[in-house]
Amino acid sequence: MNFPTTCPGCAREVPAEFADSLIHELTCPQCGTRYVVFVRKQKFEVLFDLGTKALLEGYAREAVASFSAALERFFEFYVRAYALERAADTALGFEDALAALDGTWRHVASQSERQLGMFALAYLLREGKSPDFLTPGALGTDFRNRVIHRGALPRHEEVEAYAARVFGLIDRLLTELGPGAAQVELAQEGAFAAHLAGLPEGVVAVFEEHPGMFRARRFAGPDGGETATKTAPPGPATTPPLNDAQRFAWALAERGALLSPLKRR
Ligand SMILES: [Zn+2]
Repeated sequence: MNFPTTCPGCAREVPAEFADSLIHELTCPQCGTRYVVFVRKQKFEVLFDLGTKALLEGYAREAVASFSAALERFFEFYVRAYALERAADTALGFEDALAALDGTWRHVASQSERQLGMFALAYLLREGKSPDFLTPGALGTDFRNRVIHRGALPRHEEVEAYAARVFGLIDRLLTELGPGAAQVELAQEGAFAAHLAGLPEGVVAVFEEHPGMFRARRFAGPDGGETATKTAPPGPATTPPLNDAQRFAWALAERGALLSPLKRR
């Protein structure tokens, strides 16, 4: 999947393909300027946005794979956020904490069931309660498996309901994490800084902040903060709390249009 970048040399639009590292080394085909685009976004956000884009374009089945991957990567994000948050309170240096975390994650990296176990424990330790939302029903596991492993062709409404469920879960957990996600954001900045330091002379660095579906939540405070207030739906204070489908619908209305730069080319 491509996204547009702007050449810092001639201001023409140059498409780039999303890289796993979210670091994109480019050479402008028009003027030859070499530049690197760093996308300040977490993997789960990129995947969720790709799912949303696929759903909006009518690729319902493909969207399920992206939403499902987004949830798995979010669980990893949560574990990393929690581990680094804890390490920040100890004498362990940030780099050492990160290395220990990476070494630990290696044991679970290839199996999503193990990752789910790590997440469950991280949630228990951080929140002091059981992650009772981790039921197959709440996660839409059966639907996901039918589509991904058994080739079922889902209807648009089914995928939308699944997306709403994944969105609602991530949205709530991000709210609970609040500033707890700061360290894991810092880890990405660290990776960007290391890459930046190794760039040859004359290569321009560009930092991009894409308007992801979870942006408002991630950059707001634990209570939603100013950004979230602006995106809150109108209505009296007595409005009942939103269900997942409504939350997703509002996020889509708010951010869906902004995802249009993520054009397939
Ligand atoms: Zn150029």
